[in-house]
Amino acid sequence: MFVDCHIHISLDGKDSKKWRCLITEKKYEPIKDILNLYKKKNILVLRDGGDNLGISQIARDIAASLGIIYKSPGWAIYKKGKYGNFLGKPVSGIDDFKDVFAEIRKVKADHLKVILTGLVDFDCYGKVGEIAFTENELTYMVQSAKEKGLPVMVHANSPMGVKMAIEAGADTIEHGYFLTEEELHMMAEKGVVWVPTLAPLGNILENGELRALYSDKIENIRKIFDGHLKAIKKALSLGVKVAVGSDSGSLGVHHVQGFFDEVRHFKKCGISEKEIYKMAVENGLKALGMDAKSEFLRRTPIS
Ligand SMILES: [Zn+2]
Repeated sequence: MFVDCHIHISLDGKDSKKWRCLITEKKYEPIKDILNLYKKKNILVLRDGGDNLGISQIARDIAASLGIIYKSPGWAIYKKGKYGNFLGKPVSGIDDFKDVFAEIRKVKADHLKVILTGLVDFDCYGKVGEIAFTENELTYMVQSAKEKGLPVMVHANSPMGVKMAIEAGADTIEHGYFLTEEELHMMAEKGVVWVPTLAPLGNILENGELRALYSDKIENIRKIFDGHLKAIKKALSLGVKVAVGSDSGSLGVHHVQGFFDEVRHFKKCGISEKEIYKMAVENGLKALGMDAKSEFLRRTPIS
């Protein structure tokens, strides 16, 4: 059994606008088809990073009927006016968050997803989209979720963003580009799971069409990707729990195949495939807040 702990079922890696139209037109049949493919490839545990349309919530119901464990955040939370509008609902501050959090709880979200920073800037090495929430706001959101027993997944890049997320009590750090040893030590100490999502950049570097699309940025992308591999290697040597999450649905990362792409990119850190699959299950389940001795896993042998 495999675990992909970072996907977006509302995106298709190619033309997500079209994909979203197709999902509604065909009454969620395309979601069922994708989930059946996941099942066929033995990827039986999935965690969604969110969308603004609530598609991951419907996917969770369909997944349950297929015997797949599917964790949905309801919607991700992003700061009004900043990055994240296709992934969730905007909040402008704590008061706003309280309302959205009530909605998230109403739909029985499995985790809270917070988008703390923007994306990696392919034009400028080391630059990422700004930190959107204050320390106060982030801590409030994370602690609110924890009080209700929800694990917290934070999208964060840059040393400053990731440090802030760890200090606020995040359970998992998503992406985490440009990390330094300091944040890696912090993650190891606090048992925070890191989901480095290698496939979005790794796939650009390997795909001719995407390479052409980013031709003027490709050297920078390679440098960023190589730096990320080095950070993962260091993280593993320090005992950080690193998990496999493909970010399937983002440009160039296709559902199901994305998981195996992520595994292939992980191998570039010098880890064996066997070790990666073991990490994917153990740390993936931890990322999902799942008990390794759960009834589901007793029935589903880990191979
Ligand atoms: Zn994502």
